[in-house]
Amino acid sequence: MPHQLVLATRNQGKVIEFRRILDQLAPGEIDLIGLDKFPDLIDVEETGLSFQENALLKARYTTSMTGLPSISDDSGLCVDALDGAPGIHSARWAGRHGDDAANLKKLLAQLEAIPDDKRAANFTCVAALVMPDGREVVAEGLFHGRILRAPIGDQGFGYDPIFAPTGMDISSAQMSASEKDAVSHRGKSLRAIAPQVIQMLASLG
Ligand code: IMP
Repeated sequence: MPHQLVLATRNQGKVIEFRRILDQLAPGEIDLIGLDKFPDLIDVEETGLSFQENALLKARYTTSMTGLPSISDDSGLCVDALDGAPGIHSARWAGRHGDDAANLKKLLAQLEAIPDDKRAANFTCVAALVMPDGREVVAEGLFHGRILRAPIGDQGFGYDPIFAPTGMDISSAQMSASEKDAVSHRGKSLRAIAPQVIQMLASLG
């Protein structure tokens, strides 16, 4: 019987991505359940001061409400010239949660005077696993690059159109989903935590 694992997100894209990575590493061993199966759960307020705190907040709440192991992630864009901002505030940088176009426009305006060689940035993602017996594991993934001067590309989401991965002449919005998974912060944090997820679920018998 596959082990049940709740993914603490309502983002269907993330469910597909997690499932793809876990299936490659442990085919058929994990039954990944999205929050759509638990309509009564509220969206936890991300009141933590770091990606790790927010990822743990979401997974702890989900495990406490479902009694099942759960996994969550929290991510954002950290710009060197802005001392790591927008960071944990990435989704609402321009004020309204998830307004990608406004967030990106605000960031470009803030960086207008910053020269090309000082536009380094990284996407960070922390994945967190919380077990019903209280065991917890976290893993971080980084995706390094620089902020472009204008958006380009129509794949991906969020800040992808203005983020050029290190060593590439394209934005991450010009990469296919699988190309991005292979090098992205989310892909890296998931691949880093996956073996521990598999081991902890197996320990439940
Ligand atoms: P969350 O992890 O879903 O809370 O994402 C936080 C925010 O970070 C998103 O709304 C995006 O603005 C930004 N972000 C995180 N990962 C990516 C990415 O892979 N591409 C572009 N933007 C991202």
